[in-house]
Amino acid sequence: MFHKASVRLAGLYLLIIMGISLFFSANVYQLSVQEFDHGLRGPGDLVIQQLPEAGFGTVRTNFIQARDQDFAMAKQRVLGRLIFINLLILIGGGFLSYFLALLTLKPIEEAHASLERFTADASHELRTPITAMRSENEVALMDSKLTLKQAKEHLKSNIEELEKLTHLTEGLLRLASLEKTQFNVAKLNSDEVVQQAISRVLSMAEQKKILISSDSAPVSFVGDESSLVEALVILLDNAVKYSPAKSEVAVSVKNEPRHTVLQVTDQGVGIKAGEAQHIFERFYRADTSRSKIDTNGYGLGLAIARDIVKLHHGSLTVNSKPGKGSTFTITLPH
Ligand code: ADP
Repeated sequence: MFHKASVRLAGLYLLIIMGISLFFSANVYQLSVQEFDHGLRGPGDLVIQQLPEAGFGTVRTNFIQARDQDFAMAKQRVLGRLIFINLLILIGGGFLSYFLALLTLKPIEEAHASLERFTADASHELRTPITAMRSENEVALMDSKLTLKQAKEHLKSNIEELEKLTHLTEGLLRLASLEKTQFNVAKLNSDEVVQQAISRVLSMAEQKKILISSDSAPVSFVGDESSLVEALVILLDNAVKYSPAKSEVAVSVKNEPRHTVLQVTDQGVGIKAGEAQHIFERFYRADTSRSKIDTNGYGLGLAIARDIVKLHHGSLTVNSKPGKGSTFTITLPH
């Protein structure tokens, strides 16, 4: 599909190039012919007029013939050169147009491929719990001896699956709406941002007896409060999710000459070097979280956090040692 589009676009570019080239060639040709006419006929006619009538008939005829021949040859030479140049432009322009068409369509092709991947991943993630619920329901319906207790357990499991689906659709909607979100950029106090984020993960941390500390001196920086709190909540939520009970999570904020740096450090499972570059991709979940830890994550959190930070023209990076812990760093420009 994209190859066809590239060829069509290249054709269009070539048409434009050739249109311009032929227009200039036609003008150059016309101008040259006019100039030859002036240059050859004008002085020639003067010479002929100066020649006495008697005895110079042959000289006159020869002169006119030679002049017309020169005129025709000059026209031919110009025409030949212009055709040659236009052929060169046609060949060179063909290659250039195709190259430019590929260059133009490359970002569109990449965006299309990423959208396709995203749709396929989202459909897959949505289908899994739906299929599970459907088969569970069918089995329950066919069971004539289903007790009230079993039915309630069954409903409970359905609600759990529905909660996962709600979480997933919320993540998908958030990702889709981020680009359009109107940011309310203002001067923020780091203490307020950090405390708001911590308060939202506190109950989960308390369940695992994880201590969240934040003892940096407050600094002020610029950004959209609610979305930056959301990004911090994602990092803190992960830090708690992927850490053992009774461990510690530390949040720090500092102002550097050109940046504000927010860090979330945990003592959790860590991320393997090969996986660190992928964890910000949509739907990516590292092996550690799939196999060892029972979470209802879909691999959308870090993609949302990264998009929020990107929309602030900042960066989100990770530094991690498997088995020791991870540090996620948000760098925001001043
Ligand atoms: P999820 O909902 O699965 O947590 P995220 O996008 O938030 O999705 O994270 C993607 C993956 O990155 C997780 O599945 C996990 O493997 C890894 N990850 C994120 N944060 C941490 C962390 N603090 N420690 C270890 N692994 C992490």
